[in-house]
Amino acid sequence: MTDAPKAAAAGRAQMKTELPERFRDYKHVWVFIEMERGQVHPVSWELLGEGRKLADRLGVELAGALLGPAGPATEAAVREAVSYGADLVYLVEHPLLGDYRNQPYAEAMTALVNTYKPEILLLGATTLGRDLAGTVATTLATGLTADCTALAIDGEGSLAATRPTFGGTLLCTIHTLNFRPQMATVRPRVMAMPEAEPGRQGRVVRHAVDLEESRIVTKILDFIPDLSTNKVRLAYADIVVAGGLGLQKPENFRLITDLAEVLGAEYGCSRPLVQKGWVAAERQIGQTGKTIRPRLYIAAGISGAIQHRVGVEGADCILAINSDAGAPIFDFAHLGMVGDALTILPTLTEAFRRHLAVDRLAG
Ligand SMILES: Cc1cc2nc3c(=O)[nH]c(=O)nc-3n(C[C@H](O)[C@H](O)[C@H](O)COP(=O)(O)OP(=O)(O)OC[C@H]3O[C@@H](n4cnc5c(N)ncnc54)[C@H](O)[C@@H]3O)c2cc1C
Repeated sequence: MTDAPKAAAAGRAQMKTELPERFRDYKHVWVFIEMERGQVHPVSWELLGEGRKLADRLGVELAGALLGPAGPATEAAVREAVSYGADLVYLVEHPLLGDYRNQPYAEAMTALVNTYKPEILLLGATTLGRDLAGTVATTLATGLTADCTALAIDGEGSLAATRPTFGGTLLCTIHTLNFRPQMATVRPRVMAMPEAEPGRQGRVVRHAVDLEESRIVTKILDFIPDLSTNKVRLAYADIVVAGGLGLQKPENFRLITDLAEVLGAEYGCSRPLVQKGWVAAERQIGQTGKTIRPRLYIAAGISGAIQHRVGVEGADCILAINSDAGAPIFDFAHLGMVGDALTILPTLTEAFRRHLAVDRLAG
């Protein structure tokens, strides 16, 4: 054992007191199934995949917690949760759990936790998940580790939730030793999507909650979908082409969108391009942007700083184009081209255009 883990273990031993009596019967791993307008966010399935490993390690059950209005979409979500690994689903159906509002969701979730007592509760670090997790953790007066990149069970059976810190230059592992449940959020695409097993059998526990519109302080007057954001499917794209400061001028970013269009890919960028106003913020990839897991990631004029790397490491194949052979991106790229992105990108675009046209003719 090196000195650092020894010191960490000693520190934990000092911090740890006996788990208070009132938390001793907290058992099982839960995943919040995030459903909006009948659509379940795929991060819920990613978390069920990860939750399965934690539950198996602890020898306990894995449950989904689903809130929504009664109806076929909710029933379908229950079946899907079971197919992705949930042994049971705690279901709260209520007309006021349609469009998300913090107060009824937090009340329903807190009631579920207080009644059935999970030891671990995982939520997606989406806009909805972050909002709900903070309120529920505060109401329950327990610990919440946000934006985790790894989850594990330590030797004493407690959740070890790892996340970047100090601007992404260090990773820290956080334990909620003396409170329950141990809560964590994880961003979409950080965890791998598990295989669904259609027809898998699970149980449903229906729980009634008493919600009244007159007690809810926020009112939904209208629902206006954000079509611009909905168009960005970056996190779940099969192919992503991204550019960085090596592109030198905002007008050169067209070389990225041209290649993306030919490949039927999504496009993204490094953070400085967002900061300079060249590209919209929802296109940023990395620690403070999107995490991606495409089959192919093409990064042009991107140095590969750690904060960018953490967002792309899950890609099956990374092709880096950089004029500096010593750029850090070549340490983790699978394929590399050393040269000027401004000439390589149009050449690639043209080559793919011709190649794909020939394929289409042949097909
Ligand atoms: C708290 C925090 C959070 C952050 N979050 C993120 C994040 O989410 N995402 C992110 O990307 N960054 C993030 N950053 C910033 C990160 O540290 C880097 O500064 C950033 O990723 C660098 O962007 P870049 O690679 O485009 O630019 P640079 O680091 O300047 O790299 C430009 C690269 O282009 C190459 N190049 C130059 N000319 C050419 C050419 N003609 N052809 C080919 N290559 C060329 C250069 O060799 C160089 O490697 C964060 C930083 C902090 C502190």
